[in-house]
Amino acid sequence: MTQDIFVLIEHLRGTIADISYIMLAAAREVAKGTGGNVTAVLLGKDAQGLARTLSADRVLYADHPALAEFTSEAYQLTLAKLIEERSPRAFLFGHTTIGADVAGGLSAKLNLPLVSSCVKFTSDTKFVSQICGGKIMAEGDLPSPTALVTMVPGGYKVEQGQAVQAPAIETFTPPALDSLRVTLKKYIEPEAGDVDIAKEQFLVSVGRGIQIKDNIEMAKELAAALGAQVSASRPVVDQGWLPTSRLVGKSGKRVKPKVYLALGISGAPEHVEGMGESDVIIAVNTDPNAPIFNVAKYGTTIDLLELVPALTEKAKQAA
Ligand SMILES: Cc1cc2nc3c(=O)[nH]c(=O)nc-3n(C[C@H](O)[C@H](O)[C@H](O)COP(=O)(O)OP(=O)(O)OC[C@H]3O[C@@H](n4cnc5c(N)ncnc54)[C@H](O)[C@@H]3O)c2cc1C
Repeated sequence: MTQDIFVLIEHLRGTIADISYIMLAAAREVAKGTGGNVTAVLLGKDAQGLARTLSADRVLYADHPALAEFTSEAYQLTLAKLIEERSPRAFLFGHTTIGADVAGGLSAKLNLPLVSSCVKFTSDTKFVSQICGGKIMAEGDLPSPTALVTMVPGGYKVEQGQAVQAPAIETFTPPALDSLRVTLKKYIEPEAGDVDIAKEQFLVSVGRGIQIKDNIEMAKELAAALGAQVSASRPVVDQGWLPTSRLVGKSGKRVKPKVYLALGISGAPEHVEGMGESDVIIAVNTDPNAPIFNVAKYGTTIDLLELVPALTEKAKQAA
């Protein structure tokens, strides 16, 4: 077993997902405790160029046509072989659709322990994880011999995992990938909605705390007064109060506005996955222990039904 910390780099259509940089920053922290190196693991086809922004001691790169686009089977086969050959001390994955899929499969296949929804590490190889949708923080020792970990945003900044200098690349050979049961036939762009919230700089986002459909109007008025757009958490969209094009999170859009005003949103990992990298997050939530406050820069426990009309008034006066 080595003391190295491996990180699976997630990328889509030539862009590295922010969670990859966050994990590299986390890996640096835990590597201080183990005394090992930080190794970025990049899978793709002609994708070496993506390695240059990764803050890692080295990049292990596998190049294969079957790895050009993500499929769980090809990733699992490749990473299982890599883990068996190199025995890292820990392997970090995003707590994302891709990461949770691959890490869960590898845990079962290789009989390795899996730590889920990790936010942070301490330098003595302890992890801090969110459980029950972020309502409880659990601390534990990183299990041996090789711990698989899925990570949520919140504990580290993207910039901490970005390189000033391109890291060294070492290639490795994937296993035979010619009889996969699942292959990607076509990439279908999601249908553009009325507004592309992923491109907006100011979002007023509503959650279940808005309570009834009629109150959505209140949020729309505030957004109009602030020059913002309205987005939402899943319960609001599931109830048909706003269209799916406005959904933020794991099953919706990943947004990164300058300001994200979260009204009555608890901050479940599936929601934070889509907005955790906003420049400034402001949370309005009557529950002082709501996990949204873990990622918010500013927050208040004032009832949103009182705050929103008052704020709209102020914004109109200031305009
Ligand atoms: C596979 C999967 C995918 C998912 N994908 C997504 C996704 O893409 N996006 C997403 O958002 N969720 C997603 N979810 C659901 C997610 O787990 C949460 O259930 C959801 O985010 C909770 O939404 P919420 O914060 O609006 O509601 P709740 O968790 O019910 O929180 C409501 C909050 O409002 C506060 N509140 C209540 N009244 C007031 C008031 N008057 N003033 C101020 N605050 C108030 C409460 O304190 C509470 O914290 C997914 C779940 C799964 C399993």
